[in-house]
This record gives sequence, structure tokens and C-alpha cells, in this order.
Amino acid sequence: MGEFLNVPEIFGSDVFNESVMQERLPQRIFLAWKDCKINGSQLPLDTANEIAEAMKVWAIEKGATHYTHWFQPMTGITAEKHDSFISPTGDGRVIMEFSGKELVRGEPDASSFPSGGLRATFEARGYTAWDPTSCAFVKDGSLYIPTCFFSYNGESLDKKTPLLRSMEEVSREAVRILRLFGDEETRRVIPCVGAEQEYFLLPKDLYAQREDLRLTGRTLFGAQPPKGQELDDHYFGTIRTRVSSFMKDLDEQLWRLGILSKTKHNEGAPCQHELAPIYTDANTACDDNQLIMEIMKKCAAKHNLVCLLHEKPFAGVNGSGKHNNWSLSTDTGKNLFSPGKTPRQNARFLVFLAAFIQGVDEYQDFLRCTVASAGNDHRLGGGEAPPAIVSIFLGDELSAVVDSIIQGTNYKDPEKSLLRIGVDVLPAIPKDTTDRNRTSPLAFTGNKFELRMLGSSQSIAGPNIALNTIMAEQLSRFADSLEKAEDFEGTLQTIVSRAFTEHRRIIFEGNGYSDAWKEEAARRGLSNLPSTAEALPTYVSPKNIDLVVRHGIFTENEFRARFAIHLESYNKMVNIEARTMVDMAVHQILPAAIRYSKVLCETVKLKQDVGVSCKGETALIRQLSAHTEKLWDAVEVLKKALAVLPKEVQAAAAGYRNRVIPAMQTVRAEADALEELTDKSCWPYPTYSDLLFY
Ligand code: ADP
Ligand code: MG
Repeated sequence: MGEFLNVPEIFGSDVFNESVMQERLPQRIFLAWKDCKINGSQLPLDTANEIAEAMKVWAIEKGATHYTHWFQPMTGITAEKHDSFISPTGDGRVIMEFSGKELVRGEPDASSFPSGGLRATFEARGYTAWDPTSCAFVKDGSLYIPTCFFSYNGESLDKKTPLLRSMEEVSREAVRILRLFGDEETRRVIPCVGAEQEYFLLPKDLYAQREDLRLTGRTLFGAQPPKGQELDDHYFGTIRTRVSSFMKDLDEQLWRLGILSKTKHNEGAPCQHELAPIYTDANTACDDNQLIMEIMKKCAAKHNLVCLLHEKPFAGVNGSGKHNNWSLSTDTGKNLFSPGKTPRQNARFLVFLAAFIQGVDEYQDFLRCTVASAGNDHRLGGGEAPPAIVSIFLGDELSAVVDSIIQGTNYKDPEKSLLRIGVDVLPAIPKDTTDRNRTSPLAFTGNKFELRMLGSSQSIAGPNIALNTIMAEQLSRFADSLEKAEDFEGTLQTIVSRAFTEHRRIIFEGNGYSDAWKEEAARRGLSNLPSTAEALPTYVSPKNIDLVVRHGIFTENEFRARFAIHLESYNKMVNIEARTMVDMAVHQILPAAIRYSKVLCETVKLKQDVGVSCKGETALIRQLSAHTEKLWDAVEVLKKALAVLPKEVQAAAAGYRNRVIPAMQTVRAEADALEELTDKSCWPYPTYSDLLFY
């Protein structure tokens, strides 16, 4: 029997949230903070001082001795530096102090974070600024203050700042559209995100025995086990005890931090699981997802497990992704992707839908680039996860509506005149709860879009910045023409039907895994960027730069810095993997095969002495020798490929993609062949069977 856990009581108990603030702050201060949160107004220093004091008292009661400015540098994970509250009184004693200045601004030594050239080495300083829209919390004895991270010149060095800017943009443009529909009450539109997180859990002792897992987060070698996921016996299967006690512990920690962890289950591959929180605003969802990933890792260690967030830990079974469910909601709680009940609500829905379709089609490369990474290259287009080609799945009902508007023909009912936007009621569009087309990278599921291209280890900031920004762009274009229009209904009809007609090509209802789709997509002129090395150069196309600069999401410098960092981290990752392969092949795999060959050779000699046939042993020795030789050659080829890489990053990325990765594949094939031939007791590390079916 488990102990009783009072969930409503512990939920959010470690968060300095709105209700705590209301309780602990003078009314005037609380209202000033709310105004700052909602309208982005400046907080005067005396207000910040009072909030800091209340935060400190609260945090100390929760056991905190330190505070930290918590930020999200461009590495994609979070960073923190802890300062204690102590302040000497001059007589050998200390008091606990925390000022408004310390709350609002910090100066971590930032020289080791990637800046993509934004910060010259002589100006190593980076600054952090409190983000009052996301809540501070206590964890591991520290008060965590969510912050933005920027350089001395005010250039953003993080993932949070552009996300907040994109949320502002889409809100402003969406409100313009709402006003045209007579909505005077909405003050803000909030991008909402629910990010489903997939992960693997392995026993710590087995993990520790594999250098590839330790250094790269994935297996670089491993022959296929006799059993994989073909029986589908893991998906939604019963959760084993060690894992379920991990999940229970994890939920409790997340709930304490106010994270709405809702669903947990086994996933398709052996040892693979998923956690889904209830959606919140995009900024909080992004913070929360970072915490989820971090706490998963720490919590796993406590249970003698290791949590793998890599996109493809094992060849031959599913990799891990993150489903990013995205929608727009008004501050009064209306979901703008909900097909309404009245013609007017339907019309509003169609405008947002048209903007989305047009935006995704026009900026497919931008969206594609935000999910590009060395790890995710193994998934996208891998025949299990969405293809690298961006397309939108609408479902039968909605695509019939779209086609009817394009063709100006009747929707289903031949008696009815054509569907006139703003006049007719849409047919009922059922909320999809069945994941009808899992092969689609971007599916409409009733009142939200589910972007399934994200890798499991990636920050969700990037794709949400892209979704918000392309949406802001299209809404602003629509608002420009609608605000000027003399005939509102007519202009509406024209805008929506033009968007559907011109961007129909991005809508695809069929099987995204099929080769036929690749050909069809090429005919439609959709881009297909199968790898990071091919995708990223399109990131900084003039069209994308123009988009992000015009909306104030990034300066051109900031944007180019992201490009440089993503490309560099691709190169670094592949480089580490390749060198780990060489290391394991030379120091572990070849010696194991040679040792086993020696045993066999000795056996043959001994058997020959007693006059027994050695056909099997001899055949085995020959095969082992053949693969040993080929492995040695393959390692040489790989080492050479690494040695001749060009210096310039983009050329180097192409070299990794075109020469290093194919060489790695050959090394692996030979090593795996040796694994299949070698006595298990000689093999230097746990095999796929050991890892996946422990
Ligand atoms: P599934 O069929 O994939 O389980 P769910 O509706 O349960 O779909 O939602 C999956 C994720 O989508 C959850 O994180 C959920 O909170 C989130 N979600 C649901 N509605 C919305 C919405 N309107 N906007 C953003 N995310 C949403
Ligand atoms: Mg889903």
C-alpha cells in the first residue's frame, strides 16, 4: 500500500505563484506586478524590493539558503549559478538578504555559453533579467528565478527572450483580427502549448558499461536482438514496478513545482515511456518542459535508472520525440482554433485556419529548421516519425470544407448553395482523439495543431517561436486588408479562399511515410530537407531574416548567431560520435573479436591433435577474420574522413553529412557483424537484448 498523497495540497507548494503573491504582498504591490505581467509595464525598484523581500521570506521558509537566476542559453538546456542570501553584519554574524536589484538583474559569468559570435571574448559578460511572467520556485534548497539572458549590447543570448517577443507579436496581430469581428473585450491572445515528452529508461549499471551511451546518449553499435517491438506488447502495456515507482516519484516532484503532469504510459519501443502535461501558456510550457527533462534525469538516478532523452538511442526500434500541441486562446478563454457554432464564429475560425495554412506553407523551411539536430536526423524521415517534409493534416471533414471553399462548390449537401464564409454554419468537425494520422508532421486535432517533428531532447522554444511568428505575419497581412475593406464579408471570402487555393499544396491527408509522398511532395514543390546539414542553410534565407527582423523577434545578428550555434552543435555532436566509435572499435570491439579468434584457433589446434573435425570453428575463424579486417579498414576510412574536414562550419557540416556519417555506418555494420559471431561472454558491453529486455 502506498502512502496517501494529498495532491491538491502539495500541488504548486514550491512555487511563488499568483495566490502566494496575493496572500503575501501588499495589494498595491500585487496589482503592480499583475499589471507588469499582463501589460508589460515597468516595475519600479521599490516594488521589486518588496517582491524580493516577500520571495526571500517565503523561500527561506521552504528551506532555501540560495537564489539563482535560472536561464535558457542557446545550448537548449538550462543554466544556473547559485548565490546564498547571506550578508555579513560586521560582528562575525550574517543575516539573510535579497534585494529588488538582485531579483531583477544578475550577471553570471557567461563566457562559456555559446553566443554564435554575439559576444566578443573580451566582453564575456552576460546579463540576466527577471521574467515576471513566469513563476519563481524553490528546488534543491535554492530559490529559482526564471530570467532572460542577454549580452552587454542587449542582444538576446537565450531561448526565452525571442519566445516572449513572438508571443507578444502574435497576440497583437490576433487582437487586431478579433476587433474586426466585433470582439472588444479580449486584451491578449495567448499561444497555448502542451508538450508530450517521450523518453527511455535503462538500468544504471548496464548503461554505465557502454561508453557510447555515456558519451553520446545513444548506442553507436549493437546487433539487432531476436525480438524488437514487432509484437507491440509494450505500447500502453503494464508498467513495471521499478518504472512505476520512478513515475510516482516524478509526478510528485513535478506537482510540487506546479507542473500539470497528467498522463503517463509505456510507448512503442521497449523501455520507452511518455509523459504529457496539461497545456499552459507557451512560456510556462517551455519552462516546465525544461524542468520535466531535468527532473526526469535526476529522479531516474535515484531509482537506479538512467533516463535517455536522445532522439534515437537504439537502431531498429522507435526513437523519441516531443509532440507540441499548439493553439491560440484569448485571455477570456476562447480557443481561436475551435470551429464555432455560429456563422460568425466559423468565419473567425476560418481566418485563423487560413492564416496558419498560408504561414506554414510559406515558411516550411523555417519550421523545419527549428527541429533540425544531429539526434533528430535519425527520426525525421526514418519511417516511424514524421517525414522531414512539412505538411498539414486536416482530417476528412475540415479538408472537405477547405476544398469546398476553394472550388466554390457545395459542401457535401448538394441542396445547399456553396459555403459562404460568415453566412453559413460549418458542418460539425469532430475533435480528434484518435491520432488518426500518425504519419503527419503537423496535424489538426479538433481545436489545436499537433507538431510532431520535435526531437525529445530539444527545447520547445524554437518551433513555438516559429509558429507564433508565422502566424503573426499572416494575421497582420489579413488585418491590413480587412481594416481597409469596404465590403468586409466579401474581402473575408476572398482572403480565405485565396489562402486555401494558393496553399492547398501543404495539405496532405495520406501516408507521410510512403515513398509515393516524397515524389508527390516534390511535384507540389514542397521542400524536403532530410538532414540538418541540408536544412540549416535555409534558416538564414533572406525571406526568414526579413520575417523575424520585421516582427522584432530577432535582430539579424541574433538570428545568424542561432544559425551558427545550431550548425556548430551538429558538427560537434557528429564529431564526438565518430571519435567514440573509433575508440570503442579499436579498444573494445577489435580486441574482443581477436581474443575470441585466438580461443578458436587454440581449440582447432587441440582438436586436430585428437583428430576431430574443426569445420565449424574454421569457418567461424574465417568469418571473424574477414569482418575484423573490414572493421579495421572502415575505422581507417572514418579517421581519414575526420582528418580532412574543412574548417568553415557549413562546409564541415556537409562533410560530416556526406563522408563521416556514411563511414560511421560502415564501421557499425562490421562491428555488429562481429558481435553476432562472438561468444557473448567475450563481448565488452551489454547488448541490445540486455539493455532493452532487462
Ligand atoms: P492525445 O489524443 O494526443 O492524447 P490530448 O487532447 O489528450 O490528445 O492532448 C495531448 C496534449 O495536448 C496535452 O498536453 C493537452 O493538454 C494538450 N492540449 C489539449 N488541448 C490543447 C489546446 N487547446 N492547446 C494546446 N494544447 C492542448
Ligand atoms: Mg499526441
